Amino acid sequence: MIKLLKQELCDTSRLIYDRGLVWCTGGNISIRIPHTNTFLITPSGFNKGLIKPNDLITINASGETLEGRDKPSIEVNMHLIVYQEKPEINAIIHAHPPVATTLTTLGFIIIPFTPEGKIFIEKIGRVDYFPAGSPELVKAVKSQLRDTNIILLKNHGALTFDHALLNAYYRMEEIENTAKMNLIAYNLGKKIPII
Ligand SMILES: [Zn+2]
Repeated sequence: MIKLLKQELCDTSRLIYDRGLVWCTGGNISIRIPHTNTFLITPSGFNKGLIKPNDLITINASGETLEGRDKPSIEVNMHLIVYQEKPEINAIIHAHPPVATTLTTLGFIIIPFTPEGKIFIEKIGRVDYFPAGSPELVKAVKSQLRDTNIILLKNHGALTFDHALLNAYYRMEEIENTAKMNLIAYNLGKKIPII
């Protein structure tokens, strides 16, 4: 089963890279090993399009490495705070969706206005800029966890989470595509029609 989980994580990692939601060594993904308080997470400094199952790190709820050659992602504590505060969550994606990040940084509100947008976006949290891996970023994310499944990080990116990895991926894909559609409306000088 661990083998399948690792493959699922690598497939999703490849998807976020192929969709342009991360590039260079950006972003990180984790999943809970079912019915445990241990997790698989991407290693620090790897391109998300190239990660292999054996590159993944197994950690405990304190962030200590149980298995793996490399260091876990620098954002490990941002993942762990979500698992700690929301026990129903089993998968987390942090990516750098370019349009959603730009609109958020410039102070625009991203408004879902299609049926898929309404399903996958729901309530969005937002946090100011804090350096990657900092305790301040973890604290800011913690403050936005209530009722949200997407948190937008100013000058940085986005965090999505759900009970299943594919759903966390859908949320990331949806927030970026909704941001693109919002940008088109803004460029046309139109208000976003809310349904
Ligand atoms: Zn990042």
